[in-house]
Amino acid sequence: MRPIPLSIVLSGFLFLPASIDTSPPRGFTAESGRTEREWESKFATMPDPAHMREAMRRLSARPHHVGSPYDKENAQWILAQFKSYGWDAHIESFDVLYPTPKERLVEMVAPTVYRAKLEETTVANDPTSGQHAEQLPPYVAYSIDGDVTGPLVFVNYGVPADYEELERHGISVKGAIVIAKYGGSWRGIKPKVAAEHGAIGCLIYSDPRDDGYAGGDVFPKGPMRPAQGVQRGSVADMPTYPGDPLTPGIGATKNAKRLQVSEAKTITKIPTLPISYGDAQPLLAALRGSLVPAAWRGGLPITYRFGPGPARVHLRVISDWSLKTINDVIAKIPGTTEADEWVIRGNHHDAWVNGAQDPISGLVSELEEARALGTLYSQGWRPKRTIIYAAWDGEEPGLLGSTEWVETHADELAQHAVAYLNSDTNSRGYFGVEGSHSLEKFINGVGRDVIDPETKLTVNKREQLRTIRNGRTEEKKEARDREDQRIDALGSGSDYSSFLDHAGVPAMNLGFGGEDTGGIYHSIYDDFYWFMHFSDSSFVYGKALSQAAGISVMRLASADLLPFAFTNLAETSGQYVKQLKKLRDSVSDQIAERNRSIDEGVYAATSDPRDPIFAPAKQEPPPQFDFASVEKAVESLDKAATAYDKAYASALSGSNSDASRQAALRSINGKLLQAERMLTSTEGLSGRPWYRHLLYAPGFYTGYGVKTMPGVREAIEQHQWKKVDPEISRVADALSREAKLVGQLAEELDHLK
Ligand SMILES: [Zn+2]
Repeated sequence: MRPIPLSIVLSGFLFLPASIDTSPPRGFTAESGRTEREWESKFATMPDPAHMREAMRRLSARPHHVGSPYDKENAQWILAQFKSYGWDAHIESFDVLYPTPKERLVEMVAPTVYRAKLEETTVANDPTSGQHAEQLPPYVAYSIDGDVTGPLVFVNYGVPADYEELERHGISVKGAIVIAKYGGSWRGIKPKVAAEHGAIGCLIYSDPRDDGYAGGDVFPKGPMRPAQGVQRGSVADMPTYPGDPLTPGIGATKNAKRLQVSEAKTITKIPTLPISYGDAQPLLAALRGSLVPAAWRGGLPITYRFGPGPARVHLRVISDWSLKTINDVIAKIPGTTEADEWVIRGNHHDAWVNGAQDPISGLVSELEEARALGTLYSQGWRPKRTIIYAAWDGEEPGLLGSTEWVETHADELAQHAVAYLNSDTNSRGYFGVEGSHSLEKFINGVGRDVIDPETKLTVNKREQLRTIRNGRTEEKKEARDREDQRIDALGSGSDYSSFLDHAGVPAMNLGFGGEDTGGIYHSIYDDFYWFMHFSDSSFVYGKALSQAAGISVMRLASADLLPFAFTNLAETSGQYVKQLKKLRDSVSDQIAERNRSIDEGVYAATSDPRDPIFAPAKQEPPPQFDFASVEKAVESLDKAATAYDKAYASALSGSNSDASRQAALRSINGKLLQAERMLTSTEGLSGRPWYRHLLYAPGFYTGYGVKTMPGVREAIEQHQWKKVDPEISRVADALSREAKLVGQLAEELDHLK
């Protein structure tokens, strides 16, 4: 047990959110900025850690996965909360394909027999860990049904590079069942890559080196994964498209036209199950063959070998493939003068089991924001724009609730959406932001107005100092000298994906973290007991998240001029182009070195005849690519963005009461709503048209991890040389469209002086 220091408990209540800065927030005139800051300082005192704690206890009291009784009860309860806060709220339902397990079997049939337990056991003291009747047993959603037996092969993390290593050892996984560690990629990549290499089944286990005893005491003594803990999750091919596998690109409404299950592209090709390290150990210990490379070894007290065999495994997975109903809770505060512009905020409410950390730690912050905004409304606060708060269902199996909602409302979103702000989990530590770089300046402004509860620095300052401590030389320099702290690009893994990647709505993901570790992710031990012992138990970071997200929403909803800025977007795009040129050169160097080493006989000479390693195949070196068009586009975006910034500053110095000025601002705001969409293409990315953003996408072979300028980057990474130049042109066109729009807006703003 880790006692909670009293100082932290108290700081939650002593915190005084005096605005540190009195200048108008980005997008506000002096006059409206003053009013905004007054409302914000009222707002900042309101999120209440005691309410968050109680809401977490309530929402995580029973398992609440998609289709479960408590999932529905939670949706109803959340709906009632929004209504009690004065919001106009309703439930929007969809019917989605969501398989739940009927039969699960993992059995080693040779050289000895071992039947995997495939269950997580009750832990003394943890009252909800024993709710077995309501828990989903460990499984992964969207594994195809199957019953297979074959030799076992250990494939490390199961990413493409691991299969190259296997090949060099002369090991094929054709006809084999692979066992991969969690980590190194999103889990759905593992069965996908295994099937591409001819495997017939896939097991995924949590190695104790990654989130078990190597990182601390295991639960319940500590926060880390115990021997029987299993990570559930989705293995749908989300880099192809997320959401309901049967309704890609359209909402899964009652009468939607659905694919047959056999036609759904995102279901795995081979049966897949997750197992604990308790169950993995006897299987791995029974493998023979060469020792794996040092980097592949985990933390189990065994010798890690590749196989194949002599361990043979029988794997059987059968699911119930019926449609299930998901319930999104959607709540609104109407805007006044700009009611047609929507500021959207969301966090999911479904969990794999009890889910105190994932997702309730984020949801309770969102609910407290909603309560506070409702209170402000009753006191006379009126946002210009409409605010929409969503509690999504079905995030865990595949971003179902948010994706189906976005697909259903795609046309409205294209006209009305200002931005989407997401959170998912929250814990103690540093303010993490990923998202659209046109919002980088804006969120830096918010981060300078929120206080870190542990250090009393602004959350922006604390993050800056962390970068100075941990960053490479160049990052340290930037953290010290650059006006704004950099935000990372968004990959996938939570509900922002469909907004940003599909609908072209600027999006950000916000959350605190970096101080708590844990190994309970997607297990029955992610519950109230765990959270109250090992995470933000005083909910002071829950309050900080409410402040950061709530203030962001308030500013976006009432700004005179929407607070986008494009200089950071231009600069970041320029960085991406530089990275791509470097990537081309380093890939070229690697291929040249590899080909030369093969010619020199390096591999043949250094292979141990008793444990041979084969030379890799020769590869075709890349040609030079023509980056000129995209460099030119970045330059024109930079020029337009600089002009915009200049005009922006003077445009907001005028008076609020001038009607023609108000009309002009309104027209500019309307056009700003289209800015992020300039960076998308209706044809989408090559081979995965659902993904339309040309700057950001989850990697086809990484899953969660982002690929920036994905068309270009993945063509280079996958050595598809002919595709590179056309992809560069597409990005150049997108950036040119953006530059043109921003340039026009700069001129319009200039006339306002
Ligand atoms: Zn989550």
